Amino acid sequence: MILDKERLRSNLDRVIWDIEEARLKRDEHLIVHLCVVSKYTETENIKTLYELGQRNFGENQVQQLEKRCKELEDLPLAWHMIGTLQKNKINKLIDLNPVLLQSLDSLELAEALNKRLESKGKTISALLQINSSGEATKSGVAPETAKDIYQEIKERFKNIELKGVMTIGAHTDNTELIKKSFETTYKIFESLKNDGATICSMGMSNDFKLAIECGSNMVRIGSRLFED
Ligand SMILES: *Cc1c(COP(=O)(O)O)cnc(C)c1O
Repeated sequence: MILDKERLRSNLDRVIWDIEEARLKRDEHLIVHLCVVSKYTETENIKTLYELGQRNFGENQVQQLEKRCKELEDLPLAWHMIGTLQKNKINKLIDLNPVLLQSLDSLELAEALNKRLESKGKTISALLQINSSGEATKSGVAPETAKDIYQEIKERFKNIELKGVMTIGAHTDNTELIKKSFETTYKIFESLKNDGATICSMGMSNDFKLAIECGSNMVRIGSRLFED
């Protein structure tokens, strides 16, 4: 559904206000970045959010990302890849020059990605995705191995510029469990600051306030922004 500008403005205002409130609870110096997840919405709504000041947008499929990049090539948008990256889509993703691959979820993917990057003479910025809830349906490296894998990628795969970590909160109504998955991820992020980690991406429509209170500095929000 195409939403009018006033609806999007009021949705965005509410999200920004909630981010602000959570941020101040955590630390008044914390700067939280918003990545608008556009996977559910019409391209027209992305344009409107651009007019309302948004620049960072995320898609979870390479195919859709390609479509958006083409349709919106006249706008100076920064595109994030936030979904599982299949090996046969690596080339296409690299060619789209995303600002950030948030879903680097294994050493094997890093190796395949680095190989393609090397042959194209390019680099990519990425976050290591952590499966902080341990749910079998979720991608990402196990929390216990995350630090080692991060350092190994950094050491071995020079065309990948690791900027931090990403996680998806536990899928449950139990706030304590969701909080635990964020705290686990934040601890890993903290332990990687000496390795240059600056981005801790966690929090979606239903849990971003909690994520920020746990130290997130990048939230990925879709459905809340596109409510009618
Ligand atoms: C879809 C998606 C989001 C946004 O989800 P909402 O609940 O609609 O805000 C965030 N992160 C990832 C990885 C997603 O796939």
